[in-house]
Amino acid sequence: MTNRSSRAALRRERPAPPAPEPLAVPVLDSHVHLDIVGSSGAGWPVAQQIEAARAVGVDRLVQVGVDLDSSEWGAALARTEPAVLATVALHPNEAPRLTDLDGALARIDALADQERVRGVGETGMDTFRTGEDGRKAQEHSFRGHIEIAKRTGKALVIHDREAHAEVLRILDDAGAPDTVVLHCFSGDADFAAECVRRGYVLSFAGTVTFGNAPQLRAAAALTPLTQMLVETDAPYLTPMPHRGAPNGSYLIPLTIRQLAAATGKEVDEVCAGISATGERVFGPW
Ligand SMILES: [Zn+2]
Ligand SMILES: [Zn+2]
Repeated sequence: MTNRSSRAALRRERPAPPAPEPLAVPVLDSHVHLDIVGSSGAGWPVAQQIEAARAVGVDRLVQVGVDLDSSEWGAALARTEPAVLATVALHPNEAPRLTDLDGALARIDALADQERVRGVGETGMDTFRTGEDGRKAQEHSFRGHIEIAKRTGKALVIHDREAHAEVLRILDDAGAPDTVVLHCFSGDADFAAECVRRGYVLSFAGTVTFGNAPQLRAAAALTPLTQMLVETDAPYLTPMPHRGAPNGSYLIPLTIRQLAAATGKEVDEVCAGISATGERVFGPW
């Protein structure tokens, strides 16, 4: 998730929340924007973000690209930082703004071959922030990323905002890659059941902790751990009780504990299951 107005909003943010109680069994953050966290109000250096996460048991991070600059930056970071793997893409709200979309897709295609780049995303459809005029370019970009994921055999990381039916339609038409992740899963139990049936992986963000999101907890309850991931999407979507404050990978334990409650499982079991799913989806760190 990215857009200029939310970046601006982050400059007026509250102080960073305190570190939650550490997890006993290590887990990953499957979707974080370390570069945006670093440049937003909190201004946390990347090394500090990684260390704060590690201190609470979040020892592996997936840095997600949203444009050419952030994709190149993430790929370079993953080459030198053992805790970080990268994904590369043009965000569905960025792609329609590009004058040379195909040229940019060719550069993403080349980046996706790198060994420490393990996913193609975030790509997908967003009818919330992109209007009808940008929809065609958005779909063209999504289809381009699907082809890159299939060519490289890497995970397709999907951003789906108010576009569930569109995302499924395009995946069906283009043919889905072997590994599909729905980042910041935002559907209800019915959509979750359909995604689980298709073998997709559902990544739950801090939104699953929100009081007004019982449908996300119902979705989590029917998602097997073999198809479940957890993410922050930091600096966005800070989990409760810190909604509105800046987010970071070190707050993953708050979302994990909510997922344990929603699924009726022990926290350690959820961490172990999600950790194994992360290693299967992205490969070993
Ligand atoms: Zn997103
Ligand atoms: Zn994101």
